Amino acid sequence: MQLKDKVAIITGSASGIGREIALEYAREGAKVVIADLSLEAAAATAKEITEAGGTAMPVAMNVTDEAQVDAGVAAVVAAYGGVDILISNAGIQIISPIVDFKLDDWKKLLAIHLDGAFLTTRACMRAMIQGGRGGTVLYMGSVHSHEASPLKAPYVAAKHGLIGLAKVVAKEGAKDKIRANVICPGFVRTPLVDKQIPEQAKAFGISEAEVIKNVMLKDTVDGEFTTTQDVAQTAIFLAAFPSNALTGQSITVSHGWHMQ
Ligand code: NAD
Repeated sequence: MQLKDKVAIITGSASGIGREIALEYAREGAKVVIADLSLEAAAATAKEITEAGGTAMPVAMNVTDEAQVDAGVAAVVAAYGGVDILISNAGIQIISPIVDFKLDDWKKLLAIHLDGAFLTTRACMRAMIQGGRGGTVLYMGSVHSHEASPLKAPYVAAKHGLIGLAKVVAKEGAKDKIRANVICPGFVRTPLVDKQIPEQAKAFGISEAEVIKNVMLKDTVDGEFTTTQDVAQTAIFLAAFPSNALTGQSITVSHGWHMQ
């Protein structure tokens, strides 16, 4: 087991990529915190883990809410005695051309991706420093941390921003053995992507099959979607890495869509 007894808070882990990471982390021996908007949805993932013999607790946490984030992390410290890993993963997508983008939608997306990353990082870094045993922060970036696509201005801006945040955490956290890295997946079939397929078809005036083939997977080496498993395995590798050598980096897992 690569993460035995590590306490891992994973935001947005009631669904999609975060959920898969939670399941895999639990199999690797981690005590997993399912932090998501709805306690009910978080509890369903936690139950699945405990029924399979793992350790998990659900926490209701809107990552844009300072008080909820601080209270959620405090509850984890009280229950599990500290925090070793934060995966800042909660996210949404809103697509529109810039000229039609509503300011409220811009702010909403940036708040979840960037305010959420900042607030959870701050609370977890405080707990990690207090605990004195170091830690790992992983941000769920995207190929859109490196590349741009039309219709996704705030998403691309936020995902680029996470790379900057990770580099600062790497520099500030080093003295306390806190590492920070960014995982940059290509398109993964989750509710977030399934919602976009008809929206992009409408926006570009093409079929849904064309969105998949000619927009989402066009630049991959093999026309394949990245899977939640691919991302979860990357998250295990990064969290289990044994030294400070691997910090301030981004790793792209995208079937070659983006090559660094
Ligand atoms: P998803 O919709 O399946 O899951 C997102 C989760 O985040 C949901 O459980 C949702 O309730 C939660 N969430 C949303 N707002 C929240 C908030 N304010 N506070 C707490 N939780 C909140 O989506 P996913 O595809 O699994 O996306 C997870 C992350 O991966 C996102 O950051 C996304 O940008 C990123 N990502 C996804 C893809 C992809 O193709 N699916 C690719 C690259 C990066």
